[in-house]
Amino acid sequence: MNNRSVKKVVIAGGGTAGWMAAAALSKLLGKHLEIVLVESDEIATVGVGEATIPTLLYFHSLLKINEAEFLKATHGIYKLGINFENWRAKGEDYLHAFGVTGQDCWAAGFQHFWLKGREQGIATEFGDYCLEKVCATENKFAHLPQNGLNYAYHIDATRYGQFLRSISEEHGVYRIEGKINKVNLNQSSGFIESLRLQNGQLIEGDLFIDCTGQRALLIEGALHTGFEDWSHWLPCDSAIALQTTSVKAPVPYTRSIAHDWGWQWQIPLQHRVGNGVVYSSKFVSDEEALATLKNNIEGDILTEPRVIKFRTGTRRKHWNKNCVAVGLSSGFIEPLESTSIHFIQQSIVRLLRMFPQQGIEQADVDEFNAQTMFDLESTRDFIILHYAVHNREDSAFWQHCRRMQVPEPLAQRIRLFKQSGRVFRKNNELFDDSWMQVMIGQGLIPDSYHPIVDNMSDDELAKFLAHIKHNINGMANQLPEHSAFIKQFCASID
Ligand code: FAD
Repeated sequence: MNNRSVKKVVIAGGGTAGWMAAAALSKLLGKHLEIVLVESDEIATVGVGEATIPTLLYFHSLLKINEAEFLKATHGIYKLGINFENWRAKGEDYLHAFGVTGQDCWAAGFQHFWLKGREQGIATEFGDYCLEKVCATENKFAHLPQNGLNYAYHIDATRYGQFLRSISEEHGVYRIEGKINKVNLNQSSGFIESLRLQNGQLIEGDLFIDCTGQRALLIEGALHTGFEDWSHWLPCDSAIALQTTSVKAPVPYTRSIAHDWGWQWQIPLQHRVGNGVVYSSKFVSDEEALATLKNNIEGDILTEPRVIKFRTGTRRKHWNKNCVAVGLSSGFIEPLESTSIHFIQQSIVRLLRMFPQQGIEQADVDEFNAQTMFDLESTRDFIILHYAVHNREDSAFWQHCRRMQVPEPLAQRIRLFKQSGRVFRKNNELFDDSWMQVMIGQGLIPDSYHPIVDNMSDDELAKFLAHIKHNINGMANQLPEHSAFIKQFCASID
């Protein structure tokens, strides 16, 4: 496709995506590559993206990042899951935790045992059998041996960028401040040759990583890659973000509170709280959404509310010619399950695995795009699940979501689970136990359970369920308070 070996990588954009790409490439391939990052002080980063999922720990271990230093620098805390309030029905909630619920047997997942226990009135809430959920609601945290407690983080997005910038510069990344105003293409191959800055400077490269956020200057602006719109399945198209002071110790989970036309997030950090609403502009005005947000926050407002408009969907290709789109330039699925930073890291790691040092091969490009699309579609379906399955009929928005046609693979998962309680993870997709937690949490209770459960006597089943809860509660009781752990392990000083 292009036999030119890749010696120089140009990263356009210095948000979370740009600096994550710069840090990973420089740390792992910096000895063989020249890496330049261009960002404009005139164009702000999106400034949100503060809740993560546990996969970030793998990215950090690849970069040999020290967790305590990282949390101090980003004012971060631990996150054990997301509490979904008013989603199943007004006044009800459930917590989607990062752990595994109960104990499976070879033929049937724990949900089958729980279903029979529920039928007999001897099982409590599904989440009570998950250590991470119990620790989250009881505000407990510690590092357990063998990753016994699955966790992620809440971080200050701006500080995370600065933290990664220092790692990148330490490993040789050269940062150029300036506004890109032209992307030059090779006339015969259509490959990107250089970026021209407003001051006339020309930045040439062999491989370009588009991290220019929603502007997508390279992948779309120059290469016209095309966009697949998913907004008919995920109707929210707007968000408002603002920060407030903390009024209490941070809880180790994200709060997601459903409103009549979307939902609100609350992401506590060590010193402040990130807040926002995500909504569909067809069902509520910006003014009304902001008023609701302001009525449902605690603490003093620290920042001007910012309205962010977005389009849900994905670039048709994430790697096109000699350009790889990473971050918001590659598309966006709303932040309900905090998956965007995960997709940034996935694209970076995938690129590292398929790094085209000898020149760009179409087979690599096609494989990269196919893997990326699979990951995105499965996560998209998981997010749609929250909107499609619930018992809310109290507003036009929720009625619309309940009646909406969902992608067929999701419809099949819902049918299978409803009928038999069965759920299977496909091709190493991102979410596993989560499907079950969210389906049950959203109120989808299967009509039957696996017959193997009946091999246990009623008494054995009662003991089995009680034993799991006993162990979990015993473990949670031994752990310190989340805020005490933060104070001792990673309190930020600035
Ligand atoms: P940006 O932050 O927009 O950075 C773009 C960069 O490009 C900037 O440095 C800018 O200066 C530069 N640039 C643009 N144009 C030019 C130009 N002409 N010349 C030079 N430089 C230029 N993700 C999560 O994982 N968890 C969350 O909780 C979460 N919450 C979110 C909430 C909302 C409302 C939204 C909209 C997104 C959320 N995300 C979340 C997504 C997350 O914010 C992004 O994936 C992440 O911040 C990466 O953004 P980015 O680096 O791609 O783009």
